Amino acid sequence: MSTSFWKDLWLLDETLSCRFSKLYRLETEPNASVGDRVGWNGTFCLGEWCRSRVPRGRAVKEFEDLCGLINSVRLNLKKDDTWQVFIWRAKKRRLAVLTELDKRGIDLNLTRCPVCDDDVETVDHSLLFCKQASDTWSKVFDWWDIDEAESLSIGEIFGESASGSMSKIGAKIWQAVKWTCGYLIWQNRNQKVFAKKCWSTPVALNEIQVTSYEWVSKRCKSKHIDWHNWLHSPQSFVYE
Ligand SMILES: [Zn+2]
Repeated sequence: MSTSFWKDLWLLDETLSCRFSKLYRLETEPNASVGDRVGWNGTFCLGEWCRSRVPRGRAVKEFEDLCGLINSVRLNLKKDDTWQVFIWRAKKRRLAVLTELDKRGIDLNLTRCPVCDDDVETVDHSLLFCKQASDTWSKVFDWWDIDEAESLSIGEIFGESASGSMSKIGAKIWQAVKWTCGYLIWQNRNQKVFAKKCWSTPVALNEIQVTSYEWVSKRCKSKHIDWHNWLHSPQSFVYE
């Protein structure tokens, strides 16, 4: 896949060459692909592509805006606002999966999942049903000792559905775990696409446990969350 960074409609409803015309004029390779310009960690930065080491005038503002835009899609876990953008996009199925890009008129000769190559890539497939995603979800549901069968849908995972018997704070904790898992699956998928890594292992359970623990213990100041209990009986935090 080589979608043009500047000339294809992959990020906005207009091309980046059009929206960020001052910056585009500084580009040394107008046909650069998305993979050439967006690093494996999902960021866009100044580099050899830019004719001037220090952009000036309106190009500076454009550079900042474009960085912000790309970061908001590719996401930075440390920033709450961009994290929320991911959840919002996932809920609305507005992530830049291949079938969505295809609908927007980008000529992709392949819309098959870049991770498993077994099916077309939709948001549901990518986040829930792709082999590496569903293996990851199984591990999380096992960890929480929750029956996964009815729970694996975009609405259940990313929506604000409260599970009957959970306390209010408990429902938020469980939601944070699901969001963390969804986000890491998406990041894993992007690594495969942008960094062309050839493995596609499920996200490690440990990574989800650590990340969600940090997230939850930072936010639930009223509740002490013990790391050992978090690993072995997370359910003890969510029921009254
Ligand atoms: Zn797949």
